Amino acid sequence: MSNKYQLVWENCLKVIRDNVPSISYRTWFEPIIPLKLENNILTIQVPSPFFYEYLEEQYIDLLKKTLRKELGADAKLEYSIVMENNHFNNNNKPYTVRYPTKNKSELKNKPLSIPFETEEGTIKNPFIIPGIKKLHVDPQLNPDYSFVNFVEGECNRLARSAGYAVGNKPGGTAFNPLLIYGDSGLGKTHLAQAIGIHAKEKHPELTVLYVNANKFQTQYVESVRNNNRNDFIHFYQMIDLLIIDDVHEFAGKEKTQDTFFHIFNHLHQSGKQLVLTSDKPPVELQGLEQRLLSRFKWGLSADLQSPDFETRMAILKNKIYNDGIDMPEEVLEYIATHISTNIRELEGALISLLAQSTLNKKEITLDLARQMIDKLIKSTRREISIDYIQKVVCDYFNIAIDLIQSRTRKREIVQARQVAMYFSKNLTKASLATIGSQIGGKDHATVLHACKTVNNLIDTDKRFRLQMQEIEKKLKM
Ligand code: ADP
Ligand code: MG
Repeated sequence: MSNKYQLVWENCLKVIRDNVPSISYRTWFEPIIPLKLENNILTIQVPSPFFYEYLEEQYIDLLKKTLRKELGADAKLEYSIVMENNHFNNNNKPYTVRYPTKNKSELKNKPLSIPFETEEGTIKNPFIIPGIKKLHVDPQLNPDYSFVNFVEGECNRLARSAGYAVGNKPGGTAFNPLLIYGDSGLGKTHLAQAIGIHAKEKHPELTVLYVNANKFQTQYVESVRNNNRNDFIHFYQMIDLLIIDDVHEFAGKEKTQDTFFHIFNHLHQSGKQLVLTSDKPPVELQGLEQRLLSRFKWGLSADLQSPDFETRMAILKNKIYNDGIDMPEEVLEYIATHISTNIRELEGALISLLAQSTLNKKEITLDLARQMIDKLIKSTRREISIDYIQKVVCDYFNIAIDLIQSRTRKREIVQARQVAMYFSKNLTKASLATIGSQIGGKDHATVLHACKTVNNLIDTDKRFRLQMQEIEKKLKM
């Protein structure tokens, strides 16, 4: 049974779904939870201030129209912003923003006092270009890492659009800090740099600085040794847009974290922008102080995922276009098919292929690509794929692989299928639906059921448990 507010929201969604691209619908509307309807005010829950701002900026007309259609001309919308763990506000209550509102200051959080008085005088810092009187900071940006060269795809949509917004208005959005996280080689550094480049283009007067966490750490240690820790801190407190790459490197370095904490507070309170990257989401970052982690969650954490095939092709094409090279489509497809999880490796393959063809004066053909990539794949760690899991499981139980794909309900086949599903769930990043469709054309519920069955057997059947351990060892060999 649905309540009135749920029905109202469902009706709104029906209209919205027809009016926005499906990706946007999934990103911006599916996460919304309707909460209540009182005095013709519908309250919806959104997961972050960023969400609220984005909805207000992009979709307010659509929301207004659909809501009025449902509830009449005096309909109103309220947002309740509930962040995971509620680190954004201190009193642990979700806070509400009423539409229409222009009062964005409700979104600002200023609980801390400034830790350091800024002294007048010369500020020594490692990035100052000698000979220039006025403070001039080299932003340490690489022009190749611009938004123009950053190919957009489903895998990076949220992070990219948030990054773009931050570059437009550093310190002027709710996503402060912006934390970009994802595995190595998926574009964190590129995107973080792009934000800096974009900000510098739009606001040349701003002091922008990109620094890697390791470099920050080294500078800090040096400043302590040279007795000018305060200069170090003052220098960083003057930056308008501070980009710190790979903050997971701060793990275990308490003094550096402490110093960064003060810098962070100062910048955040002065409305300056922080952009951070890490290899894990804040909740999984080990060795970082809780007070830092909780600040990381004040703004927006957005992840970068492995690119899909289409995006991989677009990245390759973008790359060869920029380098002024031509390459047969089938070669690009071959590369994009076989190197699927890491953009750095994707580019690496392209570069080795070019090098090979130049050195040996050979034309770039599919054959050449095949030889080279097969070598490359063998030398890097093999990603466990669903196909590979099926093969190992079938070998182990000594059954033909096409039986697993067939409709047969013979007990040992069913079990092998379930085992393959179980390992695919645990050892790959594939969704339940993907696993099901690749293993016997089943749906996600079947996969879920398979995982439960296998887990039960592991708990209750010792022989089965040992078998599973052996299979897992083979898979990871
Ligand atoms: P990370 O910092 O996450 O390890 P990088 O930012 O160094 O990854 O990216 C690795 C390589 O992949 C870089 O050469 C970068 O330019 C490229 N790259 C990553 N994402 C994209 C993208 N969306 N479009 C184009 N190139 C990309
Ligand atoms: Mg990087």
